[in-house]
Amino acid sequence: MRTIKTPEIIDAVAAMCIKANTELPDDVRAKFEEAMAKETSESAKEVLRQLLENADLAMETKLPLCQDCGLAVFFVEVGDDVRIEGNLREAINEGTRKGYADGFLRKSACDPFTRVNTGDGTPAIIHLDFTPGDKLKIFYMAKGGGSENMSRATMLAPAQGWEGIKEYVVNRVAEAGPNPCPPTIIGIGIGGTFEHAAKIAKKSLIRRLDDTHPDPEIAAKEQELEEAINKLGIGPMGLGGSTTVLSVKMSVEPCHLASLPLAVNVQCHSQRHEEVEL
Ligand code: SF4
Repeated sequence: MRTIKTPEIIDAVAAMCIKANTELPDDVRAKFEEAMAKETSESAKEVLRQLLENADLAMETKLPLCQDCGLAVFFVEVGDDVRIEGNLREAINEGTRKGYADGFLRKSACDPFTRVNTGDGTPAIIHLDFTPGDKLKIFYMAKGGGSENMSRATMLAPAQGWEGIKEYVVNRVAEAGPNPCPPTIIGIGIGGTFEHAAKIAKKSLIRRLDDTHPDPEIAAKEQELEEAINKLGIGPMGLGGSTTVLSVKMSVEPCHLASLPLAVNVQCHSQRHEEVEL
């Protein structure tokens, strides 16, 4: 049994919040460059060029990539042979407070009725899971409001199958139009229950943009959706072009035989993510 003390977790979380918000991850940058090389629309190329310039400026100045530094979302995998000395949830919240304060990141958490800001970027959204081994793995994502607002979950009839899923996802992106700051990344959760579909849709977004799903059938479906969405012509920031989506990531799990849960979690081009293993 390995012991991890909470100060180590607090420092790691704070560092992740700052790094993710100021340094565009290499997989996202590579997708911008790839899209720029493929685009035929001049306005689309210009937006992508500006996104790359914005990333360079953020890196140089240590200022956030976007004014909306998002709600702090964490997926945490706790090894069976790890003992946390202290409270893990409180350590992650404390790390979030520290990171958002030290990095001068905008605090966006507020009371849903009064709209009064909680003032420190917390509470973080924390999803806990348990895995074999003696490591603690923490994934962080800054989730902006503009893209999150365009996300949806639904319960399809089982008979609607893949064609129904495809139609729903493409329509969702079409209706969202420029609102989620495209080019986007689309996380899709299929199966489980209503709330589980939403959780796995979000978790799909922690995958690197350049990975390929290990199941070739799901990988082919991700590709099929990516092509269908990019035919919509919404383009970068909604100004037209063939790059509406950078990547589609899908998670599929068994569901009730009477149900077909589906969740579409939309992530903007400012795909700020980091991970750490302690
Ligand atoms: S959707 Fe993303 S890029 Fe657009 S304002 Fe929000 S965080 Fe920034």
